[in-house]
Amino acid sequence: MADEKKKPTFRKIAATGPCKKLMADHFYELDEAAKSGSRKIAWCTSVGPAELLRAMGFLVYFPENHGAILGATRVALDTIPIANAAGYSPEICSYLTSDVGAYMKGETPLSMAYEGITEVPKPDVLVYNTNQCRDVKDWFMWYSRELDVPCIGIESFCNIDVSREPHIAAVSRQLQDLVPALEKISGQKLDLDRLKEVVGLSRKCSDLWEETLQMGAAVPSPLTFFDSTILMGPAVVARGTQEANDFYELLIPELKQRVKDGVAAVDGEKHRIYWDGMPIWGKLRDLSTTFLSLQTCVVASTYCNSWVFSDLDSANPFDSMAKAYTDLFIVRSDSAKEDYISKMARDFKVDGFLFHDAKTCPSNSNNRYGMPERLAAQFKVPSVTIAGDLNDLRLYSEEQSITQIEAFIEQLGEK
Ligand code: SF4
Repeated sequence: MADEKKKPTFRKIAATGPCKKLMADHFYELDEAAKSGSRKIAWCTSVGPAELLRAMGFLVYFPENHGAILGATRVALDTIPIANAAGYSPEICSYLTSDVGAYMKGETPLSMAYEGITEVPKPDVLVYNTNQCRDVKDWFMWYSRELDVPCIGIESFCNIDVSREPHIAAVSRQLQDLVPALEKISGQKLDLDRLKEVVGLSRKCSDLWEETLQMGAAVPSPLTFFDSTILMGPAVVARGTQEANDFYELLIPELKQRVKDGVAAVDGEKHRIYWDGMPIWGKLRDLSTTFLSLQTCVVASTYCNSWVFSDLDSANPFDSMAKAYTDLFIVRSDSAKEDYISKMARDFKVDGFLFHDAKTCPSNSNNRYGMPERLAAQFKVPSVTIAGDLNDLRLYSEEQSITQIEAFIEQLGEK
């Protein structure tokens, strides 16, 4: 029928296939090492010292990545209550509660995705950095007690305007202090040249990931925030490896070609918005479809940019890791965050802001101290705040959020 409205369709990014392959290789390598004992395994917080661990021969596993998978597969809905019943409040990080609950239940969504994997790889050491929140340390301490595995880490600053020399020196010193304990567990001495090499690879990965995200500044944008939450996988779990860099070297030309050909991720892109805060993992597909049907592209986000570490410098590994992991968005004060988002809004030509107030992640919900109002006034554009959560869908009302989003997009249209 000629006048029937055409259903919006997803435009698949071809490099998603190699991305999935890299993620599968990552989990199979860990599984094999855990079963055979061929390599030591370190669990690391998402913005913890992965480069140091890799340089010391550990395979690195990221429980937050597992938390996101628990959310995306909605297995979290069954596992969060188990941790709640064991005394871990429904108000604390739902990555923590989903993951600990899954462990208690003896379940992992990895077994659904990857044949032969029946459990997460057991750690030889747990290494945290509290730069993002306190929850990560409490999370790792639960496993430390449960599995009788050492838990060590870095106590970071928070809410800083910009890092100064005393901040960097304190974190750098703590990084160096981890080395003797890690040497004892890994059974090998730290090779400074190897550390420099890994930091160099990680910096390259950061540059490539930044270049990927920067493509969203093109009009129309060749990718959306929802694409990026998948494509960021290699930067999260494999930074510091050549494989991660090879993946982005493959992805970037595909996106460049889209920009050259004017191919939009969202057909007929009408509006461009900024997403602040955590993804709602169990609703990625639904939200992506909603925005697609509203001809709105979420072109940039705070979340995906959290794996850009431009300060890493192979010539100065410890201090540069300390700076990169202290100057992160999540570590910064509200005024520094506001400056950052303002720059992003200009660079990506956004015409509205969406803030996700994630109930169990106050550290990454930036709507609570007047920021949406200040940004809306500064840019003279609308903003909307939706209440929800990263993993606990009991805290998210789909009906209410979609109504809010539709009203918000209508406002953008009026403008
Ligand atoms: S930053 Fe938020 S989501 Fe991430 S571990 Fe901390 S509380 Fe959980």
